[in-house]
Amino acid sequence: MKNKKIIVASGNKDKIQEIKYVLKGLQFDIVSKDDMGLDNIEVIEDKETLAENAIKKAVEISKHVDGIVIADDTGLFVDALDGRPGVYSARYAGENVTYKDNNDKLLKELKDISLDKRKAAFKTVIAIVFEDKSVKTVEGQCEGYIGFQPKGSQGFGYDPLFIVEGYEKTFAELGEDIKNRVSHRARALNALKEELQRMIKGEDTSI
Ligand code: IMP
Repeated sequence: MKNKKIIVASGNKDKIQEIKYVLKGLQFDIVSKDDMGLDNIEVIEDKETLAENAIKKAVEISKHVDGIVIADDTGLFVDALDGRPGVYSARYAGENVTYKDNNDKLLKELKDISLDKRKAAFKTVIAIVFEDKSVKTVEGQCEGYIGFQPKGSQGFGYDPLFIVEGYEKTFAELGEDIKNRVSHRARALNALKEELQRMIKGEDTSI
């Protein structure tokens, strides 16, 4: 029998690569919205919480496809900045900026802040729209702190600045095997796996 599809409502290739890595081995084919010919659909992330943005993205894409749709919304919450950039992490340095622009702004804002005050957490919310169009969210969080300069060459986004608690290295130094075991996204994806297992067993998946 053919595997069911999980459609990832994202155009971010870095995220999709991590999602595929963590979900490999499941009896689902993981495809992106672009693989489904939906690259022209860009959902605006204009909500005030990660959960609302994730739900908006997943629901919008689910209107165009059959199958399970998931959407990930992630933010970096820095204590010394009262939780900024948070839900606005993608547009922290402005519209259409690079990862480097955002990292440069973060370092600038934390310029005079000592190590003990640079605590931060990555948070991911994944929204799932099931085939019956019911919606659920799962979450994952990873604690750490923000370094004084970028370190490492792997990963993406804020990874070169985020030093993972317990490892004392950035995600960009630790690489994909470790990141995909301990990250905010990996934790949310493990919760997603449990939801999928529940679904397969025929349990209730509605909110
Ligand atoms: P969004 O979930 O696509 O809105 O991402 C928000 C911002 O956080 C973007 O600038 C991403 O590059 C960044 N980001 C998302 N996930 C990660 C991650 O796992 N590591 C580092 N940066 C990330």
